[in-house]
Amino acid sequence: MLTVAVEGCCHGQLNAIYRSLPKPVDLLIICGDFQSIRNRADLECLAVPQKYRQMGDFQDYYTGRRIAPVMTIFVGGNHEASNYLSELRYGGFVAPNIYYLGRYGVIWYKGLRIAGISGIYNETNFLKPRKETLPYDRSTIRSVYHYRNTEVTALKLLQPSNETIMVSHDWPEGIYEYGRKDQLLRCKPFFKSDMEKHQLGSPPLMALLRHLRPSHWFSAHMHVKFEATVSWKPSQENEKINKEEIELELNDASEETADLPTRFLALDKCLPRRKFMEVFRLAQLDVPTKLAGLDFFYDPEYISILRTVELYRKDIESAGLDLPEELITTLHRECDRQRILLEDLETHKYRELLQINSQFSVTADASAKEVQEYTNPQTVQFIEKFLAQP
Ligand code: 5GP
Ligand code: MN
Repeated sequence: MLTVAVEGCCHGQLNAIYRSLPKPVDLLIICGDFQSIRNRADLECLAVPQKYRQMGDFQDYYTGRRIAPVMTIFVGGNHEASNYLSELRYGGFVAPNIYYLGRYGVIWYKGLRIAGISGIYNETNFLKPRKETLPYDRSTIRSVYHYRNTEVTALKLLQPSNETIMVSHDWPEGIYEYGRKDQLLRCKPFFKSDMEKHQLGSPPLMALLRHLRPSHWFSAHMHVKFEATVSWKPSQENEKINKEEIELELNDASEETADLPTRFLALDKCLPRRKFMEVFRLAQLDVPTKLAGLDFFYDPEYISILRTVELYRKDIESAGLDLPEELITTLHRECDRQRILLEDLETHKYRELLQINSQFSVTADASAKEVQEYTNPQTVQFIEKFLAQP
C-alpha cells in the first residue's frame, strides 16, 4: 500500500502545502495552478490579474535552496508559467523531486498508474491547433493553457482501466450529479446557472471519464471540496437494482472489478480552514513483467498512443469534434502496431527506454527578467527516445 496525499490548487504555496502533509507520505499529487515560476520572466507568462502576480515559493525549489520533501507529481491548470511548462510539454522534472505530467501523460510511480491532462477546457480553442509562441500576447497567454481535442483524444485511446488514477485541473462536466449537489450549491450558489446550461466544467473530460472509468479522478479549480461516485453497474444506472443479480455478480471476481466505480474528488486551494488535502492508502499494482523493479517509468500504452497521435496529428486536428469511425479504427490499429514494436525490444532496451530519468537541470537563470525560450534537455531526450525515429 502507498500513502498518497492529494492537493487541490497550489497557487505557488508549496511551503504551506509541504507543511500540511501528514508524515510519512509516499507521494503528493497536485491538481494544477501550480505556478512553477522560476524568475521574473516567467511571471510575464502567467495569466493572472496584476495584483496576483507573485513569485510564490517555487523559486527556492528550482534553485535548490529547498528540496521537496516528498515526490510530487502535478498537472498544469490555468495559472502557470506556461513558457516553462511548454518547454517540458512531454513532462519532466521542473525541480528536484517535482514532476510535471506534461500536456497529457501516463506514468507509473511505485506501482501506481497515474494519467493526467493539463490546462482547462475552452470551447473556442478546443479544436484549434496549438500555435502559441513566445512572447505570449493577450490572447495566447490564455489559449496556451486550453487543452485541445488531440490531447483528450489521445487519452481516449487508452483502454478503459479501473486501475488508473486520473488527474485534471477542471472538473468533468456533470460530475456534480453524482455527489451532494445540494451541498455544493449551498456552498457555491452561483454554480446553478452554469449547471443548468451544462457548462460547469468540461464536457470532453466527462466523455473521457465515461470511457476510461478510472479508480480515482482528482481535480481542483472550483475552489471547493466535492466528492462523487460514478457507478458503472448497468443495473444501477437504470435505477433498477436487482439485488439477487448483484449478489451473483459479487461471487465472480472479474465481474466485480470490471464494475468498480470511479471515485471523484475535487479539492480546494491551500488556505487556512479550507479542505485542500486528502490522504489515501492505495494498493500498488503489479508492474508489467519486463519493467519489474523500476519505480518510475512511462506507461507503454501511453508511449504507443503518443507516437500514433504525432503521426496522425494533422488528421485528428482537421477531423472536428467527432472523429470519423474510420480514423478511430486507424488510430487503434496504429497504437497496436506501435505497442508491438515497443514490446519486441530486448528487455534491457525496453527498460532503458521507458524508465524516467530524474535528471533535472537548471535551464533559465533565477535572475532572468527577459522572456526567452530555453531548450530543456529532458524534452530533447524524450524526443530522441520516442519521436525522432519513425
Ligand atoms: P482560478 O483560481 O482558476 O482563477 O479560478 C477558480 C475560481 O473560478 C473558483 O473560485 C471557481 O469557483 C471559479 N470557477 C471556475 N470554473 C468555473 C465555472 O465553470 N463556473 C463558475 N461559475 N465558476 C467557475
Ligand atoms: Mn484554476
